[in-house]
Amino acid sequence: MFWTDYKVSHLPPLMTQKWDDIHTPTQLIRSMFILLSILGSAILIFSAITIYLVSKTYILDRAEAEAISMSRSFTNNHYELLLANENAQIDISNISEDKLDTSFHQTLDPFHMIKVKVFTPDRTIAYSTDKTVIGTMNIGNESLEKALTGIHVSKMYNKESEMDLAFEKHFDIDVVATYTAIYNQSGQIAGAIEIYQDVTRFRDDINFAVLTGTLIVLTNLLIIFFIAYRLMKLPLSALKIAHNKLQKMATKDGLTQINNRSQALSFFEKEIERLNQFGGKLSILLMDLDKFKSVNDTYGHPAGDEVIKQTAKAIRASLRQGDCVGRYGGEEFIVILPNADEKQAFDVAERIRNAIENLKIVYDENTIPVSISAGITEVFPTAEEEEPDSFIKQADIALYEAKARGRNCAIRSSLLE
Ligand code: GH3
Ligand code: MG
Ligand code: MG
Repeated sequence: MFWTDYKVSHLPPLMTQKWDDIHTPTQLIRSMFILLSILGSAILIFSAITIYLVSKTYILDRAEAEAISMSRSFTNNHYELLLANENAQIDISNISEDKLDTSFHQTLDPFHMIKVKVFTPDRTIAYSTDKTVIGTMNIGNESLEKALTGIHVSKMYNKESEMDLAFEKHFDIDVVATYTAIYNQSGQIAGAIEIYQDVTRFRDDINFAVLTGTLIVLTNLLIIFFIAYRLMKLPLSALKIAHNKLQKMATKDGLTQINNRSQALSFFEKEIERLNQFGGKLSILLMDLDKFKSVNDTYGHPAGDEVIKQTAKAIRASLRQGDCVGRYGGEEFIVILPNADEKQAFDVAERIRNAIENLKIVYDENTIPVSISAGITEVFPTAEEEEPDSFIKQADIALYEAKARGRNCAIRSSLLE
């Protein structure tokens, strides 16, 4: 695998980077998938909570309406017992427990009412199905205060809450407590009543509504995602192909399919940076085909193209993983060798030079003889940021010397004057 074959990042950009850092269609698809998953989960959670709250509010409203009409009919039926005194107000001394008890219990059970408290206007409990609290004051009870001003208050509790239901022998129940005012015949508030209703029977309804509602939302989301995926599949794969083509065009040389000049130089820049940061070794070769003009002149330009192609292939085949070769100019190549000093780079240059010399390039039944010259320069770490140009210039001087010394040879920069 060569350097340019590595992708920028294999992690979904949303998890590691910003949208600006998305460079490939694959990254885009991954990011969109993560975004849609987050969005889908949010929609699902939001739907479940909404369905739960709506169902709960519906049950609360229904229980409140029931409790209010219950208390109205109850106080009307027992008007004599509750309010026929000189002040026309609920009064603790006037209520006979026994009579109310029978009456309450007859009324309570069929309507799922489990507990009742009747309050005087001065907040004393005049009657309760819990006998122990009769006669006690209920000061600071906000719901009671509101009821005594004519506002109904309903609240839902569950089994874990602060209810004093134990004596009623009810466990694990959901309860709606409703406070509402009691009016006398003149229309004045004459006291208040608190009714506890068992709404446990609705618990399964809420769970069922949340479960089915959420499942319906989930199914719809999956259908929408599936349709979106099918619709997007074609354009996305076309985008992928176009992107790969563009990336290849931007980084590869069209004739030889090795790195183009700018890609090779950017690799070289990164290697210089790495060397300055972490140390190690780095060398470059600048190579140029010998007497190439005469190849074109003798065998024709297409034959010359074939020679350039075969040369690139031979150079690439002579390199290790992690090395980089690029077409620097017409018949000129640059080779970047990380982890090689000048001596090792010389050996690589010699290996390439031999391989090229031994190439049997046949074109139009002609065997074309080729050779190549090389200039070799080792790059050393420097304190300042040094540009690749200065090292390439040194390699070019060595290459010029190789040409001067009769071509088909490799010259090391350090051995020059
Ligand atoms: P030297 O040994 O000194 O390098 O001699 P040379 O003839 O190779 O040197 P020169 O640089 O004068 O000639 C290079 C030739 O390479 C000139 C140019 O027409 C040819 N050339 C450059 N690019 C291509 C190409 O893509 N295809 C072909 N067929 N020829 C090319
Ligand atoms: Mg040449
Ligand atoms: Mg040249």
